[in-house]
Amino acid sequence: MDTNIFKSTKGLVGSVLVVGGGVAGVQTSLDLTGLGYKVYLVEKSAAIGGAMARLDKTFPTNDCSLCILAPKLVEAGRDPNIEILTNAELVSLEGEAGAFKADIRCRPRFIDEEACTGCGQCSLYCPRVIADDYNARLDISRAAHIDYPQAVPTSYYIDAKACLRVNYDTCGLCASLCQARAIRFDQEEEIRRLDVGAVILAPGFGRINEEVFRRYGWGRYEDVLTAFEFERLMCASGPTSGSIVKISDRSHPRRIAFLQCIGSRDVTCGNNYCSSVCCMYAIKQATMAREHLPEAEITLFYMDIRTHGKGFDAARERAIRENGFRIIYARPPRVEGIDGMLFLTYVTPEGNHVSEAFDMVILSQGLEAPEGAEGLARAAGIDLNPYDFAATGIYAPLSTSRAGIYVIGAFQGPKDIPDSVTQAGGGRGPLLRSPPGCPRQPDSHG
Ligand SMILES: Cc1cc2nc3c(=O)[nH]c(=O)nc-3n(C[C@H](O)[C@H](O)[C@H](O)COP(=O)(O)OP(=O)(O)OC[C@H]3O[C@@H](n4cnc5c(N)ncnc54)[C@H](O)[C@@H]3O)c2cc1C
Ligand code: SF4
Ligand code: SF4
Repeated sequence: MDTNIFKSTKGLVGSVLVVGGGVAGVQTSLDLTGLGYKVYLVEKSAAIGGAMARLDKTFPTNDCSLCILAPKLVEAGRDPNIEILTNAELVSLEGEAGAFKADIRCRPRFIDEEACTGCGQCSLYCPRVIADDYNARLDISRAAHIDYPQAVPTSYYIDAKACLRVNYDTCGLCASLCQARAIRFDQEEEIRRLDVGAVILAPGFGRINEEVFRRYGWGRYEDVLTAFEFERLMCASGPTSGSIVKISDRSHPRRIAFLQCIGSRDVTCGNNYCSSVCCMYAIKQATMAREHLPEAEITLFYMDIRTHGKGFDAARERAIRENGFRIIYARPPRVEGIDGMLFLTYVTPEGNHVSEAFDMVILSQGLEAPEGAEGLARAAGIDLNPYDFAATGIYAPLSTSRAGIYVIGAFQGPKDIPDSVTQAGGGRGPLLRSPPGCPRQPDSHG
């Protein structure tokens, strides 16, 4: 069997299954097709893009997140050697490195991806209102919708849990309005069997520890927001078109506090590890808040600052200097709401007890393993570490416990976008050297 990719691209190439369509999964898919592999990109949600598609800006340069990501999404969507399967999950994986058989469960979108023109009529008239998950539930959407305008595939879909036709056999308004005749209520769940030579897992992060959030008043006080909620609030495409306002009364906050390590480095009810990205994204969010609200007082509460990437510490120092942030080395244990204000009580490094009132509190949430990590591990036959991230070796960080299955991005452990993209590039490395036994599929590159 020829395992040299450079020879195999002349005749036959292997196919690779990539699980998870965040920035890591999309980047590795593009790299792999560049080398001549056929890629099946399996994404659990209705669109690729992952968390990066929901960010306003990205540190350390604070460039627009979607402006960087969207061209990659479009490229992946157009690549004839990348087959994107959305609403899809890996359910089992038989065989061995070089010759796996992967079963993928594909749930119906109820809208034909090819036929949908993205005109939005179905959503406009759909009577079923739902919380908009893309906007961290700070806005509303409809049962027939698209996650965001630049989503790939550029097709609307119907939320099976909310749709009146799917659940009660009534309504059907969208089907009569859609001029492209794209609505397909006869679509059913199907299992697709794929032949692949190797598997790359990139399901990212995502579990939410609501218990930790609630300890800090989230869910009780409207102006206590998670960092993801704040990310959408700041964003021009977000629920307030980028205007930073208190959810409680829509006024601009005058005093904003960022609390670090929420759910991280906390053995009382969180994780004992550092989530690696929150110190930097808090600096980014504070900088954006300063741009939007020049008069606001912005305070960041840290235990210690961990800005370890290239140029990150310089970016932090510059941001603090130029924006006049207050930095307090303390860990307020809770948030108390009194007369419409949010009170934080903390101990200063000098040992003094201080209580201060704020208008808005942002919780810098940590990164946890993705929802369904155990199920995915079972299906793929790999081991997890004690935190439910993929178990890997110190000297082989991309190799899982099963030969032929690799891991990249935040599922390998909390990491930022640059590191996820670097690992995505590394994902093709093992395929160049070791035995995915490439010759599987005819090469459809011209
Ligand atoms: C509030 C916040 C702000 C941030 N800001 C920045 C920043 O400014 N700069 C920066 O560098 N980093 C930032 N990060 C970190 C950044 O989001 C991650 O580094 C990045 O998203 C990791 O990419 P990924 O592709 O590994 O995972 P994800 O972005 O999580 O993508 C994983 C994808 O896999 C899919 N998936 C999950 N499970 C399955 C499954 N079983 N089957 C199929 N598909 C599945 C998901 O739906 C998702 O589309 C921030 C994080 C947070 C929480
Ligand atoms: S399903 Fe039909 S109505 Fe809805 S966006 Fe697509 S083409 Fe338009
Ligand atoms: S059938 Fe479902 S998706 Fe279509 S308009 Fe009615 S509730 Fe909305």
